[in-house]
Amino acid sequence: MARLLGFIALAALVVAGAVWIADRPGTIAIVWQGWRVDTSVAMLLLLVGALALALAAALRVLGWAVRVPRGWRRWAQERRRRRGYQALTFGMVAVAAGDPEEAARQARRADVLLDEPPLTMLLSAQAAQLNGDEAAARRYFTAMLDRPETEFLGLRGLLMQASRTGDAAAALDLARRARRLRPETPWVLTTLFDLEARAGEWRAAEDTLAEAQRRRALPAVAARHRRAALLVERARAAEADGRPADALDLAARAHDEDPAFVPAVVLYVRLLGAGDRLRKAERTAERAWRSAPHPELAAAYRELAASADPVAQAQRMQHLVAGLPDHPESRLAVAAAAIAAALWGEARTQLEAAIALRPSTRAYALLAEVEEKERGDGAAAQRWLRLAAEAPAGEAWTCTSCGSVAATWSAVCPSCRAVDTLAWQAPAAIPLLPARAAAG
Ligand SMILES: [Zn+2]
Repeated sequence: MARLLGFIALAALVVAGAVWIADRPGTIAIVWQGWRVDTSVAMLLLLVGALALALAAALRVLGWAVRVPRGWRRWAQERRRRRGYQALTFGMVAVAAGDPEEAARQARRADVLLDEPPLTMLLSAQAAQLNGDEAAARRYFTAMLDRPETEFLGLRGLLMQASRTGDAAAALDLARRARRLRPETPWVLTTLFDLEARAGEWRAAEDTLAEAQRRRALPAVAARHRRAALLVERARAAEADGRPADALDLAARAHDEDPAFVPAVVLYVRLLGAGDRLRKAERTAERAWRSAPHPELAAAYRELAASADPVAQAQRMQHLVAGLPDHPESRLAVAAAAIAAALWGEARTQLEAAIALRPSTRAYALLAEVEEKERGDGAAAQRWLRLAAEAPAGEAWTCTSCGSVAATWSAVCPSCRAVDTLAWQAPAAIPLLPARAAAG
C-alpha cells in the first residue's frame, strides 16, 4: 500500500515536471572544442537519464566480474581438499592392504593436495615402512615429534622401530617420553614395563606395573604373577649383593603375591633355610607342595637337611608330599629318596605308580637306576633307558612366547627376551615329517 502510494506520488511528480517543462519551451546550446550542439531541454534531460541507466548497468557487470572468480577459486579449493582426503583414504587402504607402491603414490598426492602435515606425515611414514625404507620412515616420525598433535604418534613409530632393531636403550627412552605424554594409554604402560624388565630395572618395572594395574591395563591375575616374578629377580639380586635380610623379605613378598609360583617358593624356602629358620622353611614347602609340586621344591627341601642320612631323607620326603601323595611329581620325589636310601621295593612301587599315571623320561631313567644299583642288571637298565628315550618329554621351563626351553627360570626369556613367559610345561613336540614311502 505504501509502495503504491509512493509510486503514485512519483508518477504525479514526473508528470508535473514534464508539464512544467513543456509549458516553458527553450533551447540549450553546448559549445566544446569547436563542436556545437543545439538541443531542447527535454532532450537533454532524456540524455542524462539514459546515461545514468547505462552507468548503473556497467557497475552491475563489473561487480559480477569481481565475484565470479572468487567463487570459482573457492570451488577449486574445495575440490582440491576433497581429492586430498580421497588420496589420504586410498593411501590408508593401501597401507592396510600391504600395497607399498600405491601407498607411496597416494601419500605423495595427499601431501601435494592437502595442507595438513599431521595427516599426511603418518601416511608417508607408513608407506615408507611398507617400502622397507626405514630411514625415510624415521625422518617422518621424527618430524612428527615437532607438532603437539602428532608427537605421540611419532613417538610410537620410533619406539616400534627401536624395538624391532633391538635398540633397547633408545626404546626405553622413547617409552618413558610416551608415558609422560599419555600415562593413561595401556600399551604405553605394558611396553614400558617390558622394556624396564628387560633392562633389569626391576624397581622401575614394579612401579610401572602398579600404575598399569591401577589403570586396568592388564588383568589382576597377570599383574600379580608379574609382580611375583619381579620380586624373585629383586630377591636374587639382593642375595647376590650380600643383603640376605632384604633378599628374604623380597622372596616372602613374592611368595605372598602368588603362593603357587614355584621360583618364589623355592627361593623363599632356600633363604629361610639359609637364615636358620628350618621349621618355617619346611612348613612353607609342605604347604606349597599341595598346589605346586615341583622337582626344584623337592631339591630345596632336601637341602634344608643336607647332612641327614638317606633313610631320614626318605622319611622327610614322605612328609613333604603328604598333602598330595598320588601326584606323579610326589611319587618321583619319594622314589628318588628311596633309591638313595636303597629302599628298592618302595622305589619300584612309586615309579610303577608314576608311570601308570603318566609315562615320563624321568620315571624310566629312575627305574633303570634301580635295576643297575639293586641287581646290577645292565640289560634291564638298557631296556628302561630305551623307553626313557621314547617317552614324551617331561615338563621344563618353556617360553610360552618363543617355545624355547631354559635350564632355570628367569623373569625374562633368555631366548626371545619376552617378560614373564617361562612356564613349567612340556615343550611343544617338534613334529617329525613322515618318511617318504619308497617308490615302486
Ligand atoms: Zn622366549
